[in-house]
Amino acid sequence: MTSLPATPPPRKLGLVIDLDICVGCHACAVNCKEWNTSGHMAPLTDLDAYGAEPNGVWFNRIHTFEVANETTGDSRTVHFPRSCLHCDDAPCVTVCPTGASYKRDDDGIVLVNADTCIGCKLCSWACPYGAREYDEDEGVMKKCTLCVDKIYNENLPEESRVPACVSTCPAGARHFGDLADSQSDVSKLVAARDGYALMPEQHTKPVNRYLPPRPRKNGRENSSGTNGPTAPRMLTHTDDSADGAGLLARWVDRVLSA
Ligand code: SF4
Ligand code: SF4
Repeated sequence: MTSLPATPPPRKLGLVIDLDICVGCHACAVNCKEWNTSGHMAPLTDLDAYGAEPNGVWFNRIHTFEVANETTGDSRTVHFPRSCLHCDDAPCVTVCPTGASYKRDDDGIVLVNADTCIGCKLCSWACPYGAREYDEDEGVMKKCTLCVDKIYNENLPEESRVPACVSTCPAGARHFGDLADSQSDVSKLVAARDGYALMPEQHTKPVNRYLPPRPRKNGRENSSGTNGPTAPRMLTHTDDSADGAGLLARWVDRVLSA
């Protein structure tokens, strides 16, 4: 077992992802792969990359849902980027038998020490978000580092010291900052847009936040727009499966179908 920081980190660095404007282009995932392939957790393995069953390490994955409102018949496509949420009560850390998985006590970033990871995969079973990535080539676990080797890199201009996914998003759907600071831009954004934590019933206290899609105009609204659809909000979710498989996908589906 590995311990979390004895006292909460004074900063909570994380991402705020706007589901309203993510266009599902995968630029964030690709730039994440590019940066991290040569960075802190390098290399990121790709097996059979151009074959029938490609299998590789991706810290950021984009899921796309076609969501229909059964009452109105309206439908829309919603893209859902998924990566480590740098949880305050990270079960991936406490389950680790070697101390390889740890949460930094100054900025809250959750990392893996590849030198002491034994590849037992306990952390990936413990993570309810499927955010861990096992590297088959190296036999160690990897995951989003918030580009820790970029955000503190003084050789880069200050505006570039953000995670690769944030700097590359062409839609401006990704934001980075200190979510422990109520006056930070990301905290103000979360407050203004009713941002939410993913699956709070898992009690992992994620740091990352998602901003819900805004209502779409459907041509049936009155002049004030009051008959239009309402923005999805967090719904109570319980996992009704025996093994918890597919919990994330079902939760997202329910929220975005609301
Ligand atoms: Fe750990 Fe998963 Fe939380 Fe990331 S999202 S800190 S891998 S439990
Ligand atoms: Fe710890 Fe590595 Fe096992 Fe994960 S796979 S629990 S990081 S030793």
